[in-house]
Amino acid sequence: MNPEERSTDRSLETIGVFASITEASIARARLEEAGIRSWLQGELSNGQLFPVGLALGGISLEVSDTDAASARSLLDDVNQATTGADEMAWICGTCGSEVESGFELCWKCQAVRPDRSDRQA
Ligand SMILES: [Zn+2]
Repeated sequence: MNPEERSTDRSLETIGVFASITEASIARARLEEAGIRSWLQGELSNGQLFPVGLALGGISLEVSDTDAASARSLLDDVNQATTGADEMAWICGTCGSEVESGFELCWKCQAVRPDRSDRQA
C-alpha cells in the first residue's frame, strides 16, 4: 500500500458514486481527458481494481477539491448522455431561468414546469 496516494494533506472530494467499475472508469477517463486527476475508492494502490464483488457499496470517484467544480460539470455531461434527463435542471419557457430538477415551478415567475413529452417527437 502506498499511503501517499491518499495523503491526508490533500483534500479530496467525492464527486460521484458508481454502481460498477465500468461506469466509474468511463467517468474517470472523461476527467483525465480534461486533465483532472481522480481517484477511485476501491482501487488498489498499484492501479488494479478490486473485483466487482468487493465493491458492492459502489465505487466513489474522488478528485482534489480544487477540481471538484469542473469535474462535476464534466460528469453532468456524462450522466446526461447515459441516464437521460430526469435529474437535469430545466429551463423555464416563460422567463428563461434555469430551475433545479426538484422543483415543479419556476422559482422566478412561478410558471409550471413544461411537459417533457415533446422530447418524444
Ligand atoms: Zn420562469
